[in-house]
Amino acid sequence: MLTVSHVGRRFPGGTEALRDTCLRLHEADFIVLLGPSGCGKSTLLRLIAGLDQPDDGRLDWDSGPPAFGDIGYVFQDPTLLPWATAEDNVLLPLRLRGVTKRAAMPRVRDALARVGLAGFETMRPRQLSGGMRMRVSIARALVTQPRLLLMDEPFAALDEFTRHALQADLLAVWQSAGCTVVFVTHSIYEAAFLARRIVLMTPRPGRIDREIASALQAEPETRLDPAYAELVARITRSMAEALR
Ligand code: ADP
Ligand code: MG
Repeated sequence: MLTVSHVGRRFPGGTEALRDTCLRLHEADFIVLLGPSGCGKSTLLRLIAGLDQPDDGRLDWDSGPPAFGDIGYVFQDPTLLPWATAEDNVLLPLRLRGVTKRAAMPRVRDALARVGLAGFETMRPRQLSGGMRMRVSIARALVTQPRLLLMDEPFAALDEFTRHALQADLLAVWQSAGCTVVFVTHSIYEAAFLARRIVLMTPRPGRIDREIASALQAEPETRLDPAYAELVARITRSMAEALR
């Protein structure tokens, strides 16, 4: 889908956020970018989204640059319109594209149902829990049926029980939607549970240190699988080496 070749990014003021970063994304991948704070994970995600441009290297899309709606972006903060219902928040990207509300509504309902919010369509953000607000944010990213879903530490502010539920539901969404996911986290446990490919980044300037493939089942029971604990240990060891 996308080849990132030898990408570098320096910010005015001299911060070198990324250096010589190479990565290939395939259709239906679930990649987790894992690394310490400040290693350039968000910078790489913004470059993939086309929200920023590299100083060195290049990004090549197999079938041309993505169009509006091909990429969904989810941030740690759900950034919902506080006065709008869940439905109207999810509707927004389609309205911005000029789709009428009438034509958009079936897709809005479908997106909300996919994230487990059927029945909550007319609630406003303040009536919803933190986890439900994040579900609305994910539905808003899904409503344009993106080929690529970019998620920047979306669950970092949630309590552990809520986080576990959202992680499991995200795997189900990914499997049914068939899109590619690039998910940023600094949690080794989260990376091990979610990813098919775990990409380890070094501290600044960020580079991709190595990649670990996961053979775990993408299902909630995986958390209790001894193979999950082994993968966590393996990532922990590799991360310690990358930090050295
Ligand atoms: P991460 O997401 O891994 O925590 P970031 O990609 O946000 O890291 O940032 C990498 C480095 O680049 C950090 O040192 C950060 O302060 C710096 N940085 C990020 N964005 C900007 C910017 N727009 N201007 C200047 N420095 C930036
Ligand atoms: Mg970040």
